[in-house]
Formats: sequence, structure tokens, C-alpha cells
Amino acid sequence: LPVVAIVGRPNVGKSALVNRILGRREAVVEDTPGVTRDRVTYPAEWNGTRFSLVDTGGWEPDARGLDASVALQAEVAIELCDAVLFVVDSRVGPTATDEHVVQLLRRTDKPVFLVANKVDDVVLEPEAAQLWSLGLGEPHAVSALHGRGVADLLDKVIAGLPEESAVAMPKLTGPRRVALLGRPNVGKSSLLNKAAGEERAVVSDLAGTTRDPVDEQVEIAGRVWTFVDTAGIRRRVHLQKGADFYASLRTAAALEKAEVAVVLIDVTQEISDQDLRIIDLVLESGRALVLAFNKWDLLDDDRRRYLEREIEQDLAHVDWAPRVNISARTGRHLEKLVPALERALESWDTRIPTAKFNAFVAELVQEHPHPLRGGKQPKILFGTQVQNRPPTFVLFTSGFLDPGYRRFIQRRLRERYNFEGTPIVINMRIRE
Ligand code: GDP
Repeated sequence: LPVVAIVGRPNVGKSALVNRILGRREAVVEDTPGVTRDRVTYPAEWNGTRFSLVDTGGWEPDARGLDASVALQAEVAIELCDAVLFVVDSRVGPTATDEHVVQLLRRTDKPVFLVANKVDDVVLEPEAAQLWSLGLGEPHAVSALHGRGVADLLDKVIAGLPEESAVAMPKLTGPRRVALLGRPNVGKSSLLNKAAGEERAVVSDLAGTTRDPVDEQVEIAGRVWTFVDTAGIRRRVHLQKGADFYASLRTAAALEKAEVAVVLIDVTQEISDQDLRIIDLVLESGRALVLAFNKWDLLDDDRRRYLEREIEQDLAHVDWAPRVNISARTGRHLEKLVPALERALESWDTRIPTAKFNAFVAELVQEHPHPLRGGKQPKILFGTQVQNRPPTFVLFTSGFLDPGYRRFIQRRLRERYNFEGTPIVINMRIRE
């Protein structure tokens, strides 16, 4: 769903506007300084268009002062949303804080609607018109309290929303989508055949038949999955040397359609650059990851010990991915893929409420403050999860965080929320 955020100074009527848009008065408490609300996102609808409404009113000025916290709120909103409603009190007119926020809002290419609130009566319209001076375009005169002008405003907001939300992933329906990846001869088609049943194994590859990648529904241990782009696996086109690029393209295309990747690794071979490249492509795609060590039936004790060392060395960067040991030929332990896939997808889907995430960040900082740099200490001002699939966080900081400290945060975040099987992304926004 597209996301719309409401920003503005305290007491301009943000909560009243939220209530008005949601069509229920009791949903949100008054703007009370110091009150933090757990919930910032509400499902909303206007004329049949559904969207998420983000109420930034819970983030009240603290020790940083009004100006800084409202600016921060605006930045978060820009990050989180497809459109921003910037609320100004038309009876007060633009304040210095408002002007500051305007500067931030003018930098985004997302639609910004200037809302002149508290225009309860037509005689107050000229006050609203004065807000043209802010340079944010037409002020939309409304009375959140009485509902005046809100319908017109919402019509325009809806019209300006993108079809596809830039911040929320479209909802996928049907069985979850798996990309089966691995270098040639690792056992992809064997696995597919075993899982799909041998009778479904042969796919006609007649001249003139479609060359589109084919998706197949495959049942493993009672669960149905959509394996994407299986034609490439079935067709067994063994690419010549130098065709790595095309193999990568195919892998990337499969990942594009998938939610989770199973990367097969041949335990009879050393872990190769090609294996690592495929894993890199998964990481770049932001999809969930399961590692399946195949041909386990051929593994002897010596090779096994060596493999363990290889895994430790070469796959340390994906030590969070569930690992299963399977034999595609015998079918042994294929069922173990199911809990691994489910766990990875669950992590990939995770959403952490903003209040909880900030409490967690505060704990971390207390336990292990960022080291001083040149007598100064970069501070984390506010954090929020802007996306799931994969979990993506933004930390607003007062300075650059050391890579070591970022890794520390990553690690603790993984521990706390058990992000097994999913990459996580932490972005920084530095405020001067
Ligand atoms: P693909 O290129 O990744 O699709 O690999 P294939 O499925 O065609 O497998 C390549 C070769 O490895 C074939 O000869 C398979 O029979 C063999 N193979 C695949 N999986 C296993 C396994 O688990 N154990 C053993 N012993 N051989 C396997």
C-alpha cells in the first residue's frame, strides 16, 4: 500500500487531521508533549483507494529542541512515505520551524501537500493564502476539526499517489516463490525432479515453444512452493566458458521473481568463486537465503572435515543462512528444506514496531556507546524500520558511525530478532 505521512509542529492539528482522515475520533490521543505512541501507521481509505497513514505526532520535541525534532520527523517521513502532508497552523502563520521543515521538504521529489489547518470558516481563507510564500505550492485550506476542505485535500493526495509504492513491497499471493540456484551439475534438475516427481520432469523444449522462463509448483513435505524460472534448469543448456555473464543474468532474473533463494553447493567439489558469485547475487537482490549442501551421500569423513573448514572460511559472511544437508539423487533430507525456507521467509517478512526498535537501539547505546571521535560522540537520534522483505532500517545519527559500530548494531539486531535466513539492511542518515 502507498504510504502517506503527516508532519508538522506540535499543536498544528496533526492528530485531529489523522482522526478526520481515519473517520474516527477516538483513535488517537491529543498532541501531548512527551507521549510516545506505539502505533504510528494506520490503515486508511479514501474513495476506494487504500493507503497507510503515518502519524508522526508521537515524536515530540525532546532535549534537542523543537526545531531539530520537527526536522527529524520530516526527514523520517520523507524516508518512510510516498507522499507527505505538511500541516501548518494558518492562524499562527509560518514559523521559523516551519521554514526549516520546508527546506527539507523541497529537496524530496515525493509529492508534498501543504495543509493550512484551522481554517474553520471561509473568512479565514486569506490566512491560508499567505502560505503560498512558503514556496511549497498551493496551500490546502482545511479544518481538521470540522472536516472542512479535507475531502478536496484527500482527492488530490490520492491522485498524486504512485501506483506502486516505492516504500512498500506489493503483496504477493499464492505459494511462496523460490529460486533454485547453483552452478552447473550441482544437482538443480535432480532436486527439481525428485521434488516434482519424475513424471513431471520432462518439459518439452520444441522449437517455437515459448522461451519465457517457466514457474512450477512443487510440493515438498506437504508444502507447495513456486519454483521460479525452472525452464532454464530443465532445459539443461550447458553454457560455454565465458557465458558466466548470461548465467548471472539468468540468476538475477530468477531472483527478481523470487522471495527466497536456495543455493545448492556440491559437497564433492571445493567451494568455488562461482558459488560465491551466486551468493553475492542473492545478497544484492535482498532475497532470503537458504544454503543446501548437496550430494551428501558422496561425502566421506576426510572431505567432510575439509568442507567444514571451507564453510567457516568462505561462507562466514552468510553464517546467518540456514544450512541443510541433502541428497537430491536419493531424496534424503529434502524435507529439511521446508523448515529452513519457512524460517528464512519469516525473518524476511519481519516488521519491528518503531517504538520497540528505538527501545532496542537505546539499550544498545547504553550498553556500548559509540567511541569518542575527536572529542565528539556520534549519536543515534532515531531509528525506524522502513521496509521488510528484507528488513531495512534507517538510523538518523548526528555523525558518521564507525564501521565496527555498525557491525555491532547489525550483530545485536540479528541476535535480538533472530533474523536467520534474511539479509538485513541498515542505512544511515547523518544530520549536521
Ligand atoms: P544441474 O546442472 O544443477 O541441474 O545438476 P543435475 O541435477 O543435472 O546433476 C548433475 C549430476 O549430479 C547428475 O549426474 C546427477 O545425477 C548428480 N547428482 C545430483 N544430485 C546428487 C546427489 O545428491 N547425490 C549424487 N550422488 N549425485 C547427484
